[in-house]
This record gives sequence, C-alpha cells and structure tokens, in this order.
Amino acid sequence: MRDRKTESLRQLELMLNDSEGFLPICSAEGCKKVRVLVDGQEVWIGRDDDPSLYDRVIEHYGNSPDLNKSGFTHTVCPEDGKRLYGEYWEDRKTILYAEDHERVRELWAGILRKNFPECDLEPFSDGGALEARLRKGAGNIGVVITDGSLPIKTGYEIIRQYAQREDFRGVPFILHSTDGPTIGNSVVEQKAFAYLDKIKSSETEFVMTVAYALNHSDSQPTASSQ
Ligand SMILES: [Zn+2]
Repeated sequence: MRDRKTESLRQLELMLNDSEGFLPICSAEGCKKVRVLVDGQEVWIGRDDDPSLYDRVIEHYGNSPDLNKSGFTHTVCPEDGKRLYGEYWEDRKTILYAEDHERVRELWAGILRKNFPECDLEPFSDGGALEARLRKGAGNIGVVITDGSLPIKTGYEIIRQYAQREDFRGVPFILHSTDGPTIGNSVVEQKAFAYLDKIKSSETEFVMTVAYALNHSDSQPTASSQ
C-alpha cells in the first residue's frame, strides 16, 4: 500500500516533468485531484498526499479557469463520480484518442468531451504514448481512436498489433485519418472497428460511430479497489 503511494507520487513527478504529457485532473467543483496509473490501477492525488508536489500541479494549471487548458485532460475522480453519476459511474469507459496535430486534437477532443461527458478522455500526441497506455492493459477502455500517421509509432502499427490481441477483444479501434477508403478499409480488415475520414466525415458521423463503438465494446471495468 505504502509502495503504491510512493510509486504514484513518483509517477506524478515524471508527468509534471514531461511537458508533452497530459495530466488528468478532476473537473468537479473545488476538487482538482490528479490521476496517475500504477500497474493499471488508478491512484488519485490531492493536496494532502504531498503538498509541495501538488502545488506544482496547481502552478502548472495556473489560475486560469479555462477548462480547455491544454496539458490537462478533464475527468472525474471516483468520489465525485459516484456523487455526480451514481451507479452509472461504475460502468464508465475511457476513450483513448491519439492525434499529433495540436489544433486538430483539441478540436476533436472537445467534441468527444461534449458528447461523452460520462466517459474519461485520454488524449495522446504520439503513438509511443498511446502504446505505453495500451501496455497497461485493456482495463475499462471503451474505444481507441487513432490517427494513422503518428510520431514514434503509427496508428496503423498499433491497430495491427493490438486490435487482434486476445486481451483487447471487445475494445474497438477506430482509424481517424485522411488516408482514403483504400487504406482505411484495409486497416478495417485488420480488425479495426471502423475507418473515419478526418476531413470528409461530419461531426455527426464521428459522434455516431464513437457512440456505436462504445455500445459494442465489452471491456471489463478496472476494479478500482482503493
Ligand atoms: Zn474529484
């Protein structure tokens, strides 16, 4: 128990040092706890856990009330989740979304947040970071949406590698790129759930496809025994 706590604080420090990373923060009024994953399990860190480290989070966050502040991804901690969503909270799913262009990422992440407020959203700016997240296990991942061309590791490689894996069965992968139907359909043949053209498909089509994927995913929620 003590080790997990120590490890969670170490992880938070690493995340604060990584300017490219996103810090998941609880968006409930007055909470602002931050989440780290230790062996695939969520640990939520607040001011009481390590005041000086936590002050760095708030410093990072700034005094801006802007909820779309980049570098942060808004989610809800278990306490606030249960309070706000009741039993529905237990079944909530996480959306992983990888896109390397910042503007494009913010646009679609905003659409996801607006349409799926009951889900956690974790954005990634390269394939390496997305894969690091996938390596922690399928857990409660409801859908993975990825661009095709990404730094470090491409979305195609990730889909080829993970969409067919036994432990990722029930996790839909959506290719969201500008490759056109030929490449798009060939990725679907490699067990991707769907291909969405980043330019040609409308917001409605995007939202409906993600909703359909979430309804068809059957990943098991991670036991969040604290
Ligand atoms: Zn909270």
